[in-house]
Amino acid sequence: MTLMIALATAIAFAGGLTARIVNDPNREIGVCLERSTQELIEASLGVSRLFKSINVNVKWLDPLACKDTPGVIYIVLCYDSPKDQDPRSLGYALPYDGTRIVILMDHLRASARFGPERNRLTYVLVHEITHLLQGISRHSQTGIMKAHWTRSDQYDISMGTLRFATEDMELIHYGMAARLAKARAQTAVY
Ligand SMILES: [Zn+2]
Repeated sequence: MTLMIALATAIAFAGGLTARIVNDPNREIGVCLERSTQELIEASLGVSRLFKSINVNVKWLDPLACKDTPGVIYIVLCYDSPKDQDPRSLGYALPYDGTRIVILMDHLRASARFGPERNRLTYVLVHEITHLLQGISRHSQTGIMKAHWTRSDQYDISMGTLRFATEDMELIHYGMAARLAKARAQTAVY
């Protein structure tokens, strides 16, 4: 029930904010590169590009800077997924925790047999980070935030042309404003 109200409120606000979406210098998210593998560094370039396309700046942080940065998102790479995890699942996020995404690297690599691998890690990262930025558990009918990518989506992913649905861009902007307000409230001195 709470989720339903939160979702309805978020969508209502997002709709109201449509006309006011402008370049906001505060719309920046810190992502911690605790484990900077070559694969992750390459994927991070695509992540930055996709978020930039909706006016969101991603700041990649060195592990030493992460703990001092409020609201930072941590990436956990899992190479040995639990056996009871759906093998089709490539990653997950905990939207109400807001700080951590898990990428199931073994599933990601196994799934490459069924389609082109290029850009796949980039899109899984963007999808899961978006769950945290939106702060609600939901999927869209089209684009990056679909629950399951079709063969056609996989092709767009390999070409780097799969995009955000408009509602996802709006919910990201709204969610980021809410995250910023929350972080400011937590650090305010009374
Ligand atoms: Zn999802």
